[in-house]
Amino acid sequence: MADCIFCMLANGEIPTATLYEDGEFRVIMDANPATKGHCLILPKAHYANIYEMPEDLTGRAFVLAKRMAGRLTEALGCDGFNLVQNNGEEAGQTVFHFHIHLIPRYKGGERIVANWTQTPLPEEWKDEVLAKLS
Ligand code: 5GP
Ligand code: ZN
Repeated sequence: MADCIFCMLANGEIPTATLYEDGEFRVIMDANPATKGHCLILPKAHYANIYEMPEDLTGRAFVLAKRMAGRLTEALGCDGFNLVQNNGEEAGQTVFHFHIHLIPRYKGGERIVANWTQTPLPEEWKDEVLAKLS
């Protein structure tokens, strides 16, 4: 898609630090990393978010995420790993081309990647969600 920065990066129109590439995906280093080794999996085809992604391509993206998590963990010796995938402005998405964040985590690392106040599941949420999904 014209004017999409991730289309240009994924397809090599703008040079970028690349950790992996195949016919469908490119894995690049995030320009503003949360931690050392924070990378992004970008499909070369443009889909704005997970709702638009074909299921088979989504499956292959997450298989690649698993592989890259293993490779990064082995190479960097991180102690934990977050996969983050934002959809929509309300969810924190800022670039509207599907991507998966690969975020190595380190013991004692002070940077918070995802955090919310844990409160017990309200009965009415449980009932409503179960009813709507059944
Ligand atoms: P989102 O908030 O949409 O899930 O994440 C977008 C991510 O893309 C951010 O972590 C941001 O740092 C990264 N990003 C935005 N523009 C560029 C860019 O031009 N190059 C690279 N490598 N990363 C980018
Ligand atoms: Zn795009």
